Amino acid sequence: MAPVSDHDDGIPDRSALRQTVSEHIRRGAPFGLILCDIDRFKLINYSLGHEFGDRVLCQTAAVLRDTLAAGGTIGRWGGPEFLCIVDDIANLDAQVEKLRHRVERLVLLSTTSRIRITASFGVASYPADGHDAADLLNAVDAALYHAKEWGRNRAVRATVIQKRVLGMGVTLEAALHENRIVPAYQPIVSLKTKAVVGEEALARLQMPDGELLAADEFIEVSRQLQLTYKIDQSIIRATLERCMANRVNPQPHAHFVNISGNLLRHPDAVQELLELVRAYVATCRAEGHQGRMMVLELTERELFGDIAHAKAILMPFVEAGLQLALDDFGHGYSSFQYLADLPFSFLKIEGSLIRRLAEPTTRKIVQGIQRIAAELGIKTLAEGVETPGIAHIVEDLGIDWAQGFFYDAARLDQQADGHRPLWQPRWSVSGK
Ligand code: C2E
Ligand code: CA
Ligand code: CA
Repeated sequence: MAPVSDHDDGIPDRSALRQTVSEHIRRGAPFGLILCDIDRFKLINYSLGHEFGDRVLCQTAAVLRDTLAAGGTIGRWGGPEFLCIVDDIANLDAQVEKLRHRVERLVLLSTTSRIRITASFGVASYPADGHDAADLLNAVDAALYHAKEWGRNRAVRATVIQKRVLGMGVTLEAALHENRIVPAYQPIVSLKTKAVVGEEALARLQMPDGELLAADEFIEVSRQLQLTYKIDQSIIRATLERCMANRVNPQPHAHFVNISGNLLRHPDAVQELLELVRAYVATCRAEGHQGRMMVLELTERELFGDIAHAKAILMPFVEAGLQLALDDFGHGYSSFQYLADLPFSFLKIEGSLIRRLAEPTTRKIVQGIQRIAAELGIKTLAEGVETPGIAHIVEDLGIDWAQGFFYDAARLDQQADGHRPLWQPRWSVSGK
């Protein structure tokens, strides 16, 4: 093992490690990074004392140093994290497994008992996982984050593809923590009156440099990391605030929000939202009006698992005065059965189906959907309307409401980003 600089505990610190990584990159030969984090270290420190915690750190460092192949460097990355830099990347997985196993076998004696510890590992290699030190260190950090998320005491490799997903996971976590998940609102128009009758709140991630990421770029990752309920919480809270601020505005207006199956599995978050909804509804009633209408959108994908559970969670919202929409209808299995299981007020027809409306077969399918919905007293909404031609067809088919780029894209509140007024529809200004 080659020490870079000596410190109190005799091993390189974070800045020395960074320097070593940069030197390795300048040299150009492949090398590997292993980031090791002692599982539940805070708990160990808290329950057994700092002195014991220090012993855990020292002994883990010793195990890593002894196990690491010759030519490797190990240093303290910060907290209970150690970074190993290894030259032999042909056997990287085997080396990490050996490290993990040796830490697991470590036995520490406290005053009262024998303590065993485990560690989680993130693994990355140069040049596959990054061409500069920042990218490489982000990749190995994101891989470690995932190792912990997936249950600890394991190693996760930051492959190039994983790196993107994991990197986005870290970006998303930070954005949630710093309240940088914000709603953008896309107008919904009535096809009969051409008036704006509502809007859908869509999640956006504001990057620190101001760039705005659309939901498509992070929602799948949030699903994998089980974080979608936090996104829903932010967007629903913001939408309720918007409803509250505009509640006396006489314009009838429906506020659509998306909710995930992940939210339905977080009873505390659901309860908090339900209380906010009840407070909003009670305020409107006390003032003698109905306030803005709020609609919860659900996809079949989210409902699929357990409709009885979804119903138990959603009915209190319906009883409080909210409405339900079945989202993305026409995508995947599209069973009308859900319309019998839950009291849906809206059926949103998927954009991919709407965009193919020039084809006679698709037109017949949408016509059938429209007929059934009308018989059930459910309003239909065409998604993804992009052209005047499609706008005409959906109107002819008797679809009630529509949204899509033809009318307007989703935009941040103008107070937040200085855009033009939200309710000045583009098509009426340009005479479309
Ligand atoms: P969605 O609910 O079907 O939302 C519609 C998506 O289509 C939005 O993308 C919107 O920007 C985009 N879109 C609107 N008009 C058009 C059009 O004319 N053409 C095309 N090609 N696209 C159009 P976005 O914002 O990227 O959202 C993607 C998906 O992410 C949403 O699909 C929804 O499933 C999910 N999502 C967004 N926000 C949230 C949220 O707060 N919570 C949850 N659980 N999911 C969300
Ligand atoms: Ca939606
Ligand atoms: Ca949709």
